[in-house]
Amino acid sequence: MTEPGQVVERVLVVIAHPDDAEFWLGGTIAGWTAAGVAVSYLVLTDGEAGGFDPDVPRADIPRIRRAEQERAAAILGVDQVRFLGLREGSLLRPSRDLHVAVVRAVRSVRPQIVVTWSPEWNWQRFRSCHPDHLATGTLTLQAVYPDAGNSFALTALLEDEGLEAWTAEEIWLINSPHVNHYVDVTDAFDAKVRAVAAHTSQSGHYLDLAGRLRGRLAPNTAPAGLPDGRLAEAFQVVSNR
Ligand SMILES: [Zn+2]
Repeated sequence: MTEPGQVVERVLVVIAHPDDAEFWLGGTIAGWTAAGVAVSYLVLTDGEAGGFDPDVPRADIPRIRRAEQERAAAILGVDQVRFLGLREGSLLRPSRDLHVAVVRAVRSVRPQIVVTWSPEWNWQRFRSCHPDHLATGTLTLQAVYPDAGNSFALTALLEDEGLEAWTAEEIWLINSPHVNHYVDVTDAFDAKVRAVAAHTSQSGHYLDLAGRLRGRLAPNTAPAGLPDGRLAEAFQVVSNR
């Protein structure tokens, strides 16, 4: 979707939970980093309500999930992972501090592309519409425009932290009901599977993880205009120019 001549040097991925990025755009991230694009994550919560194994002490989950996220990001060649450590569900009433934190991340990373959740319900994938996902989309879009790019907004970020206003040119939304862009990730599929598998507490119970992930991507092949056997990840690309 990027325009002719557009250079993508940096991408910021803002997600609700550890594992969101790998499940939804692991192949796209692997393609970006292989091409020299610097990818950063901002992970808003520790996903402490996630998992499937009742024998894992719940108090250990945040530490486990952060470590899994670090390993998965390293597999994909991601530059930097920042954790805000918020509680699951706390995104539903986002604080002023959280708004400033996302603006700070945009101004620090200075990405051409911000990837985040669609804030809209996708009725084709209702169980991907976790309230934290929808809230992450809303609060991230509200940070990207206008405050991240407005030098007259949140002036303390410049005065105290030296962070200049920055406008990300595009927002790429995952789980959108209005897909308008596909990325061929066939060559990065193995890396995606390994990165999702690094989230053992979330995916360790799947007997055929590769088959499951292939099945999730397969419906994208025809609409992406790709031949049978190719795999694509899907996005709604929104211009912020
Ligand atoms: Zn999630």
